[in-house]
Amino acid sequence: MGLEKFFNPDSVAIIGASQKKGKVGYEILTNLISAGYPGKLFPVNNKADMIEGLKCYPDLESIGQIPDLVIIVVPAQVVPDVMQQCAKIGVKSVIIITAGFKESGKEGRELEKRVTQIAKRAGIRIIGPNCLGVIVPANKLNASFGGDLPVAGETGYISQSGALLAAILDMANENGVGFSKLVSIGNKADIDELDVMKALGSDPDTKVIAGYLESITDGNAFVKEAEQISHEKPILLMKSGGTSAGAKAASSHTGSLAGSETAYECVFERAGIIRCESIKQQFDYAQAFAYQPLPKGTRVAVITNAGGAGIMAADAVENQNLTFAKLSDQTVQKLADNLPAAANLYNPIDVLGDALADRYEFALNVVLDDPNVDVVLVLLTPQAMTESSATAEAIVRISQQKNQKPIIACFLGASKVREAIQVLRKGRIPHYDSTGGAVSAIKTMTDYVRWLSRPKRVVKLFPVNRRKVENIVERHLRQGIREIGETESKEILEAYGFVTPKGSIATTPEQAANIAQQLGYPVVLKIWSPDILHKSDVGGVKVGLDSDREVMDAFDLMMYRISKKLPHANILGVLVQEMCERGKEVILGVHRDPHFGPLMMFGMGGIMVEVLKDVSFYLAPLTSDEAKQMLINTKTYKMLKGVRGQEGVDIETIAEGLQRLSQLVTEFPQIQEMDINPYVVGPAGTTAVAVDARISVEKV
Ligand code: ADP
Ligand code: MG
Repeated sequence: MGLEKFFNPDSVAIIGASQKKGKVGYEILTNLISAGYPGKLFPVNNKADMIEGLKCYPDLESIGQIPDLVIIVVPAQVVPDVMQQCAKIGVKSVIIITAGFKESGKEGRELEKRVTQIAKRAGIRIIGPNCLGVIVPANKLNASFGGDLPVAGETGYISQSGALLAAILDMANENGVGFSKLVSIGNKADIDELDVMKALGSDPDTKVIAGYLESITDGNAFVKEAEQISHEKPILLMKSGGTSAGAKAASSHTGSLAGSETAYECVFERAGIIRCESIKQQFDYAQAFAYQPLPKGTRVAVITNAGGAGIMAADAVENQNLTFAKLSDQTVQKLADNLPAAANLYNPIDVLGDALADRYEFALNVVLDDPNVDVVLVLLTPQAMTESSATAEAIVRISQQKNQKPIIACFLGASKVREAIQVLRKGRIPHYDSTGGAVSAIKTMTDYVRWLSRPKRVVKLFPVNRRKVENIVERHLRQGIREIGETESKEILEAYGFVTPKGSIATTPEQAANIAQQLGYPVVLKIWSPDILHKSDVGGVKVGLDSDREVMDAFDLMMYRISKKLPHANILGVLVQEMCERGKEVILGVHRDPHFGPLMMFGMGGIMVEVLKDVSFYLAPLTSDEAKQMLINTKTYKMLKGVRGQEGVDIETIAEGLQRLSQLVTEFPQIQEMDINPYVVGPAGTTAVAVDARISVEKV
């Protein structure tokens, strides 16, 4: 069952309806009445015969029919009894407004469990508890105590905070913002954000989904479903609070660089969700999506009657990585033939301070026809001769005639443009009170279009030696060892197609020199101890050793120094390793988020990674395009491509490394965190080497 009965019930019972002003049971009933709800209303309260002119029933049973929707506002302790009655007469949809459940501690949690058990057994769906209710303006249903019924519109809203929804309603009513549905999900005992998102996703009256979320119930399902819904309509979310992942003490570079927000950023990116920072921003973006068609590209044309405003818009276009449209010769010619000589015929098109509505209308018409233009931004300041409202009407008229490209407006000012803004709003022209705000809305639309047109996600599977990894991981878990040492970490990587430097452990200087000879000079010495996480921090790495003498000296010095510095460390010897060819050092990492799974990290590597913090994250499993995008998202990328005559490195190899790593951690959920740092990459055609690796595992 979907949520139809919550949105469009034929009859509603209010258990706990009250005749006392100020009580929730009164507010809800009167909200329903004053919104003009056309269905049957059944107030239920055993202490009243009539409330607000409606016959009042002592209990559910005595109504004599099954209400489509039951709203419960009685105290928490009584809710299980009421739910039993609902179950008994066969009610299927219930909104529990009452607070005092999971959010209020142990007792409340128990109570909520009882309520959900009753509901499950009886096949009742619940919204709430601890919520504000449901509002559907088009059906004149205000089953909430949030405020007055807003106007009908195309935005469906989900809020995890009831209080915030009250603010949203107030703001919306003030600004004439409309909604298709508003749902306050409260404690999400049954119906959660995803259920509502799916319902709004398939709701023909909803063009845009917006919401405020504090937590996400099922991370994996959310990513999958949200991605599908995003293909149908844009999702604009405000999200507070990160995941707990960031709080966990991290032993890896990747773990310490992943903030609590990282997982949500990755999830939103993958699912095409547009993140908003404020209610205002949400409304701003929502109107652009609801009112106008999507732009086909990023080329923006600006029409203005004020030079300064035009320049501000041009700056914003550049800062937001949009393209300033280059008008066709034909367009310029047409403008030249019809605008005054002083007008600027190139983008931004300045129709001059004395422009009346007709000049705007002409310019907008011509510019919209230009094949080099994807979006038009119309700016206006109310100068002496300006016809603000007539201009707004002209824009609306043209937008109705030519509805292929989005038109966005920004009328600067206050009282002199107020009426015009109303005209724009009624005419479904998104309006913004700053050039920056208008350009941000355009940018958001083009970002969404880019997301929609990204190539189909295909995750490549490499042939690997899975059994080998399984053996190593299982053995560590059996022995209760969380950190996999360097040697076995490298075996794991090799099993997944990575190349690692050769080397062996020496316990005496002579042995070290022997190994070095076999490997061939130059070599690297590294301290070998399960107690030392970052070897170079304690002087435990010596590179570029060229002879037996240097190796033996370095061995003695390293042993002496480290046993002085860390007297309690268990030092097992020194690793003598072949020195790899010079290249750029990058880091490939993984951090597993408890809700959303492995997050992949790429960045500038080596020992400075935490200082530079030039890293990017993406949700696994990675496609080849996503792996490359991870590289592009860092500042390091330019350097990797080669700058100032320096040869670039093999970008494809790094992208492949990320994909192989993504496959490894997807196939082994036991891997909690890992770093390959450094991953040394050279120019195209050379082999990249995983020089140092760290893997930590946990039972799952
Ligand atoms: P840790 O990260 O524990 O300090 P690493 O093994 O990553 O130790 O070594 C630190 C740095 O030493 C690397 O970032 C790299 O610059 C250099 N290095 C280590 N091993 C090699 C090697 N085999 N070839 C070339 N450079 C190396
Ligand atoms: Mg390292």
